[in-house]
Amino acid sequence: MSITPLMPVYPRCDVRPVRGEGCYLIGERGERYLDFAAGIAVNALGHGDPRLVKTITEQAATLMHVSNLYGSPLGEELAQMIVNSTFADTVFFTNSGAEAVECAIKTARRYHYAKGAPHRHKIITFANAFHGRTLGTISATNQPKMRDGFEPLLPGFEVIAFNDLAAAEAAIDENTAGFMLETVQGEGGLMPASEEFLTGLRTLCDEHGLLLILDEVQCGVGRTGTLFAYEQYGVTPDIVAVAKGIGAGFPLGACLATENAAQGMVAGTHGSTYGGNPLAMAVGKTVWGIIQDEDFLAHVRQMGERLRSGLEQLIPNHDDLFESVRGRGLMLGLRMKSDSRAFVAHLRDNHGLLTVAAGDNIVRILPPLVIEENHISECLEKLSAAARDYTPPVAS
Ligand SMILES: *Cc1c(COP(=O)(O)O)cnc(C)c1O
Repeated sequence: MSITPLMPVYPRCDVRPVRGEGCYLIGERGERYLDFAAGIAVNALGHGDPRLVKTITEQAATLMHVSNLYGSPLGEELAQMIVNSTFADTVFFTNSGAEAVECAIKTARRYHYAKGAPHRHKIITFANAFHGRTLGTISATNQPKMRDGFEPLLPGFEVIAFNDLAAAEAAIDENTAGFMLETVQGEGGLMPASEEFLTGLRTLCDEHGLLLILDEVQCGVGRTGTLFAYEQYGVTPDIVAVAKGIGAGFPLGACLATENAAQGMVAGTHGSTYGGNPLAMAVGKTVWGIIQDEDFLAHVRQMGERLRSGLEQLIPNHDDLFESVRGRGLMLGLRMKSDSRAFVAHLRDNHGLLTVAAGDNIVRILPPLVIEENHISECLEKLSAAARDYTPPVAS
């Protein structure tokens, strides 16, 4: 037997965190890391936030789980808070991002079914997208590394080029249910939808009776400096999948929809045993209460601008290594001229800075949303020191 007890599906690095303190992680041997990965855009409040710890301990002692057979006072409160501050009229709570996307797909299919057009099941999705690891969500992408060996996948998706409005229009046929995209692509390489593209998709949806589904699992909940990234486009979606930051480390996701888009989701059509349990709802209320605050979001924008301009200033000094900066708010990507994975490893192993590699040679910088100036300075110093003592791998 050589398989590890922990199923070896992740190529895990040598960092073995055992404790978190604010924006820092502490490893098994006591070593400290500046955590600008934040659990891949999850730990919005950093580690050990006292408000979150208090909520979890108090709610765990009061009521943790009951099932969705019963009424949910806390679920109603959180759903109302979300409805009050977004486009949505209704919310389904999940435990993860992939489940939120699954609910979005089911809601879209059911919408056309309820309207008497069950043949309209096809969802147009986009190259380099990431929507999760369930069979449904891998079916919505075109990346062989996620799909190979899992076929047959779910029919009803067509993947086309991102930010290509003409291709999107050409892909519409009588079976189309809607478009699904990340407002800012995360794993694929920190690529925002262009303004023309997203507003154009909205127009196409209106003209053809289609639904606009946004996957804001990574870019939502304050990450880009507004509560949701779509707000920066002046576009109103029909369905939005949310997770990561909304639980700030507790497993929580949500599928948000307008009343119109959710018209097929009647009693008995969907469910989740854990989804929306009292512990998760208490966490969600605390996190949402903190993040939807305009001063909090202004802080994210301000820190995002500081970090971005600091990153841009690094480029001319290291133009052999770095190419450009992209992204929004505190969802930033530093594009490398060589393999970003190797540089992410160098930052981590030799400079104690945690970042995440993404497609297109991007170093993803996703700090907790509560960072302060001193964390930004520390990050920039580490990046600059790392750039000075780095030798890119020789291209093969
Ligand atoms: C992380 C992510 C998901 C999947 O979330 P899980 O909680 O891992 O299931 C889906 N969509 C996007 C855009 C993501 O970044």
